[in-house]
Amino acid sequence: TIGGNLARTVERFGDRDALVERLTGRRWTYTELAADVDALALGLVARGIVKGDRVGIWSPNRAEWTLLQYATAKIGAILVNINPAYRSHELKFVLNQAGVRLLVAAESFKTSDYAAMIEEVRPECAALEQVVLLGSEAWDSLLDNDLDVGRLEEIAATLGADDSINIQYTSGTTGFPKGATLSHHNILNNGFFVGELCGYTEVDRICIPVPFYHCFGMVMGNLAATTHGACMVIPSQAFEPAAALAAVQAERCTSLYGVPTMFIAELSEPDFDSYDLSSLRTGIMAGSPCPVEVMKQVIERMGMAEVSICYGMTETSPVSTQTRADDSVERRVSTVGRVGPHLEVKVVDPETGLTVPRGEPGELCTRGYSVMLGYWDQPDKTAEVIDAARWMHTGDLAIMDDEGYLSITGRIKDMVIRGGENVYPREIEEFLYTHPDILDAQVIGVPDAKYGEELMAWVRLREGAPVLTVEALREFCTGKLAHYKVPRYVHVVDEFPMTVTGKVRKVQMREESVSLLG
Ligand code: ATP
Ligand code: MG
Repeated sequence: TIGGNLARTVERFGDRDALVERLTGRRWTYTELAADVDALALGLVARGIVKGDRVGIWSPNRAEWTLLQYATAKIGAILVNINPAYRSHELKFVLNQAGVRLLVAAESFKTSDYAAMIEEVRPECAALEQVVLLGSEAWDSLLDNDLDVGRLEEIAATLGADDSINIQYTSGTTGFPKGATLSHHNILNNGFFVGELCGYTEVDRICIPVPFYHCFGMVMGNLAATTHGACMVIPSQAFEPAAALAAVQAERCTSLYGVPTMFIAELSEPDFDSYDLSSLRTGIMAGSPCPVEVMKQVIERMGMAEVSICYGMTETSPVSTQTRADDSVERRVSTVGRVGPHLEVKVVDPETGLTVPRGEPGELCTRGYSVMLGYWDQPDKTAEVIDAARWMHTGDLAIMDDEGYLSITGRIKDMVIRGGENVYPREIEEFLYTHPDILDAQVIGVPDAKYGEELMAWVRLREGAPVLTVEALREFCTGKLAHYKVPRYVHVVDEFPMTVTGKVRKVQMREESVSLLG
């Protein structure tokens, strides 16, 4: 279990740094972290929380988030991660969907008044009995209780590795978020193996600017660190490029995480070159496709020679494939690596379910320890994605090469069919990145009377770049892309609509485009 694993790390690396919170300057060694986790676990017990109860956490990245993650695991409570960007309507949905009994929340963050939103929805959340605001007296009293640690030993004896421990809602990129229910076994193994492939040991210090409420932060970050005795560094409550760079410099971080857009933001910080990033060795880029140019710069300008690309989804704890440190740069820009240890992958024809020949696109399916228990309280939805043989059907399109390296070519839902031709937006986006004025590009399909769908490119231009007309863009593509892949429309924007996990919301872009085109 997660608690048992943490105890082993404390035995081996008790005096080493475990957690650093830059905003407050607070630091914990593993021994100190374990003591606070135990105190908090007992505080939850004192509040009547028992195995299987749902405990919600609604907060940006703070040290308390991490403490609560381990405290709930120690007593077998199910941690429910609530997206810090949610507003009252979404909060109410999650609290009720998961049946949250005790909610821990930040009082407020930026423009979000969490406390007020909680009070607003509370009368309509029948299961919600207790609310504890971070930094309040109630929070302090959770940590300050007189229960005996022996209680935790007794509880540990009742826990099993396959118990539900965590409900994580998916990003909601393609629709309404679903609550993936995960076990100790699911996420502990995933964190451990991700850390193994990053080569983590107790000397590593991992800068985690990605949200804890998502598996990227809490599994690939926190669990990868604690299973190896490495240190977790929280650079800021929500992503700020300068804070991430400053944290790497001040804490001599060896590893830095992010989705591609975060690395793009860091690389375009005006005083980027003034940061000393020489401690960086590795890192993880995941969540969405990484443009080749960005990868090159991360390796060359940030010194992250061993950076890996991971592919995964909330439902699979999350990581299924990862590049290895000794993979060529070429492989790390063009693939998402090979299947992780003790996992299986296959690429199938979505119609027939049969494995397609290597080199041909199909739906990626994964199987093994990482596949979630199911969607919380949604057996029908679970049955749509996990088949009888426990293969998870990812909804992602992939190609596997002869050596087992996978490339993600898009989502089944994003594939555009133009005049009968299957068009994979990813391929066109990669090409558009090579345009000197284009900072970032996204390609979507919009309805078209003649071809069924037409291609529209949404682009973000570099600062000071001249106006980009559709004629100029088409000219740039002509002769280099097949005619049916050349975007028919171009729409220049400052920002793309994003999920908080840093994914571009193509669903929203399609909706907006339809009204743009009238
Ligand atoms: P929802 O399921 O609610 O629509 P979501 O799928 O974006 O949202 P997540 O579980 O956070 O929610 O994201 C998993 C998805 O992210 C994968 O299915 C895949 O489409 C995409 N993804 C993850 N890693 C990569 C990667 N390295 N390259 C390309 N795409 C990736
Ligand atoms: Mg998904």
